[in-house]
Amino acid sequence: MTARLLDGRAVADTLLDGVRDEVTAFVAAHGRAPVLATVLVGDDPASATYVRMKANRCAKVGITSRRVELDATVDTAELVRRVTELSDDPGVDGILLQHPVPEHLDERAAFEAITPAKDVDGVTRASFARTAFHEGGYPSATPGGILRLLDAYDIPLAGKHAVILGRSAILGRPLGMLLLGRDATVTYCHSRTDGLTGHVRAADLVVAAVGRPGLVRGEWIKPGAVVVDAGYADNTGDVDFDGAAERASAITPVPGGVGPMTIATLLAQTVEAAWAHEADRGGAAAPVSAVDGKEGR
Ligand code: NAP
Repeated sequence: MTARLLDGRAVADTLLDGVRDEVTAFVAAHGRAPVLATVLVGDDPASATYVRMKANRCAKVGITSRRVELDATVDTAELVRRVTELSDDPGVDGILLQHPVPEHLDERAAFEAITPAKDVDGVTRASFARTAFHEGGYPSATPGGILRLLDAYDIPLAGKHAVILGRSAILGRPLGMLLLGRDATVTYCHSRTDGLTGHVRAADLVVAAVGRPGLVRGEWIKPGAVVVDAGYADNTGDVDFDGAAERASAITPVPGGVGPMTIATLLAQTVEAAWAHEADRGGAAAPVSAVDGKEGR
């Protein structure tokens, strides 16, 4: 292997160290911990695992997680009602509705019940719009985590050709907006794209976000390109790692690449929301952030 490994676990650990420090400062300022409410619908084992992992990470950095678990038979009206309750609850700083919800539910309606100020997972239309217009807010956690990972390794983006495989509302689409905001030239590919191989071959940065193990072959990668594999199905990414690592200049492993960055970004945005929440109530604003250097949030 010649590529540099983009170690999401290590970068996430560093980010979480900063989050822990911020939580300590927040508790000292406000006498309470930040609170993340997680909503899990149904009994999908993968979703249950993701929610548990997020709650465990919360505990490690001092964020209180409040778990709401709803039966798979819940209807959209009830789900929206429960999410709205959390939006209105002054004791909650951030809300995560675990995606995907069971198919009979209108997931978009449930996402939109999250008030933007608590949308720390960046799933609402309002958050997407702020991402698209480069107006701050909370980007969707996985794209936000990918950007933080690329920045941690000083991967240049301006002027580079980024090819994104996948255009979902929570991953591919907002990632393109973030990369555009960093002056990359962005191409989206999806299930109807003709000539996928040619697009990938032309990319300086390839981000695979599909969920089809081995879709991207090693020989498609332009020598020196950067490869980010966000796909995760059957414990495997979308990219033929061994083949791609022979040609890429840098590549994420699966697991240990994008996944840890997603959770760390969610938690960083939860603390950010907690500071903003208290500032709205007239409390102390955040000091200069230990996480990302932003001020007065
Ligand atoms: P999704 O909503 O199912 O979207 C998949 C996307 O892939 C769609 O845009 C689809 O195109 C496109 N696609 C399907 N077949 C394709 C093909 N042959 N060539 C090119 N594009 C193709 O999935 P998602 O929620 O975005 O998640 C994508 C993957 O990322 C999954 O493996 C998921 O587990 C993983 N993921 C990882 C994390 C993490 O933290 N590591 C977080 C979220 C998701 P159409 O739009 O045309 O249908």
